[in-house]
Amino acid sequence: MKMKLGTCTLAVSLLLSFVACSTRIDKAEAPRPNIVVVMCDDLGYADVGFNGSTDIKTPALDQLANEGMKFTSAYVIHPFCGPSRAGLMVGRYPHKIGAQFNLPPNSETIGKGIDLNEKYISSVLQDAGYYTGAIGKWHLGSVEAFHPNNRGFDEYYGFLGGGHKYFPEEYRVIYEKQKKAGKKVIFEYLLPLERNGKEVQETEYITDALSREAVQFVKEGAKKDDPFFLYLAYNAPHVPLEAKEEDMALFADIKDQDRRTYAGMVYAVDRGVKQLVDALKQTGEYDNTLIVFLSDNGGKVSKGANNYPLKEGKGSTHEGGYRVPMFFHWPDQLQKGQVFEHPILAIDFYPTFAKLAGASIPENKKLDGLDIWDDIKAGENPHDDDMIYCLRHRVGYTDVGVRLNEWKALKVNQEPWKLFNIVEDMSEDLDLSDTHPEILKALVIEAEQWSQTHQQPHWFHDKATGIDWRDDNMPQFEKTFQLD
Ligand code: CA
Repeated sequence: MKMKLGTCTLAVSLLLSFVACSTRIDKAEAPRPNIVVVMCDDLGYADVGFNGSTDIKTPALDQLANEGMKFTSAYVIHPFCGPSRAGLMVGRYPHKIGAQFNLPPNSETIGKGIDLNEKYISSVLQDAGYYTGAIGKWHLGSVEAFHPNNRGFDEYYGFLGGGHKYFPEEYRVIYEKQKKAGKKVIFEYLLPLERNGKEVQETEYITDALSREAVQFVKEGAKKDDPFFLYLAYNAPHVPLEAKEEDMALFADIKDQDRRTYAGMVYAVDRGVKQLVDALKQTGEYDNTLIVFLSDNGGKVSKGANNYPLKEGKGSTHEGGYRVPMFFHWPDQLQKGQVFEHPILAIDFYPTFAKLAGASIPENKKLDGLDIWDDIKAGENPHDDDMIYCLRHRVGYTDVGVRLNEWKALKVNQEPWKLFNIVEDMSEDLDLSDTHPEILKALVIEAEQWSQTHQQPHWFHDKATGIDWRDDNMPQFEKTFQLD
C-alpha cells in the first residue's frame, strides 16, 4: 500500500514537473511579441513601392514588406479617418457604437468621444502587462475621459484632433497671434502638441517629431520586462500638403506640385520607419516585434494620392476608399516574401493581437473581427463566407460596399446596385448585376439585416450635417437597400 502510494506520488510529481517543464519550454520558444502599428493617414494603395509605386520611393517600407507578409486585400472598416480608427481600437464596426462620422474639429467643444463602455485593444494589452504608447494623431475624443492616457496608453505624444499643420515655425506664429487676440477656440491643426496631457513646444517637422518619439518609446520599452505595444499614427500624407524641401528634392521628376509634395511627405514617413527599425535592431527587439503597417483609408486623389488599380479613393465605398496598403513583419514568426491575397480587416487586429499577447478579452466584449493568425500562417482565407461591409452616409442617402468571397455588391450616388467579381475585377469595371441577380439580391438582403444593428450617430463632423441628417429623416435604409 505504502509502495503503491509512493509510485503514484512519484508519477504525479513526474507529471507535474513535465507540465512545468513544458510550460517553460513553450514560453522560451514563443515569448510574447512587441506589437508596433504604423498607420499613415490617407495614404493611397499605390503610393508605396511595395504596391507598385514607380514615382514615390519607400525603401524602408518596401524592405519590411518584402521580408514579411504583404496583404493585397486588406480592408479598413470605413473610408475615412475617425470611424476607421475607432473600428481598429474597439474591434467593431463604428456604426454599431454611433461613431460613423468624424468627430468635429475641436471636439472638446462638444465633449464627445468613443463610447467608454468599449474597451480598446490598448487597454486589453495594458492589462496583460504591455507597456503601451500612442504617438501622433488621435481623433477619438479630445476631452479627458477619451484621452489616450485614459484609453489604455501609458504614454501619449501628439495631437488629439483630426490633423495638424507640419511646420512648427509656421503654425506657432498663427496660434500665438490668435491666442493674443483672445480667440477662444483655435483650430486644432494649429494647437501645440502635447505629452501625456501637458503642452510641449515642438520644434521639428511633425513627421520627424513623431518618428523621434517612436524611437524613444522603443528604447524605453526595451528596458521593461514585459513587451510593448506602440500605435504610431502619422498624420502624413493627410492635408495640408507640407513637405520638407530636402524630401521634395528627391522627387524633382514629378511635375505635379501636389504629387511632389505628397511624395516628400510619404518619404518622410519612410525615413522615420527606417529610424524605428534601427532602434528595434539596436535594442535587440527587432526579431520578436510584429510590425503592422497600413493606411487608415484610401488616398485622396484630388490631393496627390494614387490608388491604382482601385477605383476612386478616400470616402468612397469603391475599393479605393477602404482597401489599403498593408503588411505584417515579424522575423521570428513570418517567413519572408509572402503575399496574402485573401481579405483581412483592421477589426481583426483586436482579437489577433490579444491572442498573440496572451491577453484576455472581457467576456462581454462584442467583436466583429476574427483572430486571423493561424489562417494567415497557413495561407487560408480567414473570412471564407464572411460578409465584409463598408457603409458611408452622404447627405440624404448612403453608399455601401458588401463583399462575400469573390463577390462585391456596390451602391453609390443613389444609382442602382451593381455587382462585381472583386477577385477577377479589382478595379470594379464590369457590372455583373444582370447576369447574377440572385447573388446581388442575397448580398443586399444580408447588408440590410446588418444595418439593423446600427445606432444613430452620436455626433456629426459639423452642425450642418446633423441638421441635414434630421431633415432627411436618415438613415432611410429602406431606400438604400431597395433593389429595382
Ligand atoms: Ca484618413
